[in-house]
Amino acid sequence: MKRLRLIFQLSIVAAAAFAGVRYALGKSLVSVETYCPFGGLETAWSFFTRRRFSCAAGETNLALFIALIVLTILARKAFCGWVCPAGALFEWEAKLARRVFKRRDFSGVWPVPAKVDRALKIGLRIAVLGLVLVATWKTGELVFRGYDPYYIVFSAHGHDVKAWSYLVLAALLGLGLVMPMAWCKYLCPLGAALWPASIAGRLRLARNEHHCTGCGACDKNCPQDLPVSRVKELTSGECTLCLECTAACPTPQALELRWSAVPRPKGKR
Ligand code: SF4
Ligand code: SF4
Repeated sequence: MKRLRLIFQLSIVAAAAFAGVRYALGKSLVSVETYCPFGGLETAWSFFTRRRFSCAAGETNLALFIALIVLTILARKAFCGWVCPAGALFEWEAKLARRVFKRRDFSGVWPVPAKVDRALKIGLRIAVLGLVLVATWKTGELVFRGYDPYYIVFSAHGHDVKAWSYLVLAALLGLGLVMPMAWCKYLCPLGAALWPASIAGRLRLARNEHHCTGCGACDKNCPQDLPVSRVKELTSGECTLCLECTAACPTPQALELRWSAVPRPKGKR
């Protein structure tokens, strides 16, 4: 699974880079933003209120966003761990930093206390999401382009990418070195939009207490720094189903993916 996911991520990163370069060279009319599901959310308000799409976003973006919500309800943030090219780059950076600086886990230089971590994941990301959506709906322009690491990296110096965009990207990569996956965990507006659906997501990791030895290898190898060994079932909306924890677990059957049934309302059992 680990190898399969890496092949998946590499293929998508290569495809996005190829599409970006072809568009930049004028050999294709399809920009990388056509494949961005977040563009669907950015344009949704404009589409439903004015029957007009925001700037370059269109039907494909909207369809991708709706499909992504369905996927997230089924398989949580699997999109982030298996498909998103920006997520792949930040994850590879986090793994490289862990190896170079010989860190035992993905908590980074300043491990963030659980309460602060939760406040940032909810508050900061929702603030970023709100800002981007309001600015987009008011201007009709995709104002986020110049700040979006996916667009900056894969558009091959696309429209709206300025010198300061590369400074933003450098700052995000610098932050990722000391605070692994900081973009995904605390700033990504798509991550914030998917969060409610991800919490409801049915495919979940479950820990079998009869087989688990409490070694903590799963915690140390989770790129999202989730406390896998301390819960029976991982209900966090941040799990990307990357399965790094199951790959690291030395005990067969201690961790398994489980389809969690929707809880029935009381009295209807
Ligand atoms: S809990 Fe496991 S599957 Fe979920 S993000 Fe962490 S390592 Fe990946
Ligand atoms: S790695 Fe496996 S055995 Fe070790 S604490 Fe996690 S689930 Fe338990």
